[in-house]
Amino acid sequence: MKYISTRGAAPDLNFEDAMLTGLARDGGLYVPAEVPRMGFDEIAALAGLSYEETAFRVMRPFIGDTFSDAEFRAIIGRAYAGFGHAARAPLVQLAPGHFLLELFHGPTLAFKDFAMQLIGQMFQAALARRGDRVTIVGATSGDTGSAAIEAFRGLSNVDVFILFPHGRVSEVQRRQMTTPAEPNVHALAVDGDFDDCQAALKDMFNDFAFRDGVKLAGVNSINWARVLAQVVYYFSSAVSLGAPHRPVSFTVPTGNFGDIFAGYIARRMGLPIDRLVVATNQNDILHRCLSGQGYHKGTVHPSISPSMDIQVSSNFERVLFDAYGRDGAVVAQLMGELKDGGFDVSQGAMGFLQDQFASGRASEEETLATIAGTLAASGELLCPHSAVGVKVAEEHRDPAVPMITLATAHPAKFPAAVEQASAVHPPLPPRMADLYDRPERVHRIGNDLGAMKDFIRGHIAT
Ligand SMILES: *Cc1c(COP(=O)(O)O)cnc(C)c1O
Repeated sequence: MKYISTRGAAPDLNFEDAMLTGLARDGGLYVPAEVPRMGFDEIAALAGLSYEETAFRVMRPFIGDTFSDAEFRAIIGRAYAGFGHAARAPLVQLAPGHFLLELFHGPTLAFKDFAMQLIGQMFQAALARRGDRVTIVGATSGDTGSAAIEAFRGLSNVDVFILFPHGRVSEVQRRQMTTPAEPNVHALAVDGDFDDCQAALKDMFNDFAFRDGVKLAGVNSINWARVLAQVVYYFSSAVSLGAPHRPVSFTVPTGNFGDIFAGYIARRMGLPIDRLVVATNQNDILHRCLSGQGYHKGTVHPSISPSMDIQVSSNFERVLFDAYGRDGAVVAQLMGELKDGGFDVSQGAMGFLQDQFASGRASEEETLATIAGTLAASGELLCPHSAVGVKVAEEHRDPAVPMITLATAHPAKFPAAVEQASAVHPPLPPRMADLYDRPERVHRIGNDLGAMKDFIRGHIAT
């Protein structure tokens, strides 16, 4: 299995190197040269299997000879052992034909644990075998950072630095990043927004002297291994509702286009997905683009669903690569235009995108109303991101096809918005009830690339 860059000018890599590298050296993102297909019978045979065995069968064709079958099964077992639900990704029913996929039973209460816990175990196994170490730098709008720190804390071959926008993450998110005491993890509060953090990260990857000097590795949602881990729950949930014998639809609250792209891969692998619906909050560049208005950056408006407060959606590049016939030179040119504000999508590419994705947006008021309405109708308390999904899903329901909305975080991760909407204060699960009492450790830093690089160089173990 070979991985190629979306900008066509970086070396092809195997799974292990694509995972350890993150961003390609030409600035592009790695994608599989060919997406392996699962046949009807192979999908049907997933019925009734554990989440872990489903994960093994879905991901195995992508990893080549990076891990033996026994090693890979053990890695998956360790990755999901710390989840607070035996099903890992349980489905609950909201209404006739509408289901919620609860992806918040991992250690940091958001879906990012599915990918990050797996990546932590895969990095550890690969680096230990190589006798190597890496520096992981991540940019986060909240949940990636806590998931990464939780997944890598205390691992001997990895230093972790997480850039987050100061004052723009929830208190639970911040405390999940600042309370782990292990010396190999560092939370950096940047005076800027998420796009500033993400831009700094990209610049670090494009500075080859720095990149090679600290052995930089990326675990942001651009890392192919993360996308792959997220493909699994599309299969597990669809099969439990009758796939491949009948199709299902998904609605996915989206910021960086990572989770929804995993659904696109599941469909390419052969899972019968009818509609794939992109749900955005008021930061709606993806909805505008899919509505034919081009891909033009706006300014970020902080919302009650902060993990989706994004204007530049990094994984969108992966689907643009397919939409433009896998022409890396064209993608590189479009990404250059994006730096200057944006670009219009060609008619052919637009046709491809609208064929694959539907989209919608939810305003702040609609999000709050959906939290209250869903609680009243079903007893289910949604986090604001999941509420964006449920609201948009209701607009795209086809009574003949079950709709699965991805619930991306636990309501207790965003208690202020949930309480404002519903008058219910969502309690943390007992295993993290003392989060508000643990001491915090955080380094405040300006939106200054040089200062960030100096801090990282000064704090890696050598
Ligand atoms: C990261 C995140 C999202 C957005 O996911 P993408 O993969 O970036 O589209 C949505 N909801 C929550 C709670 C998140 O943490």
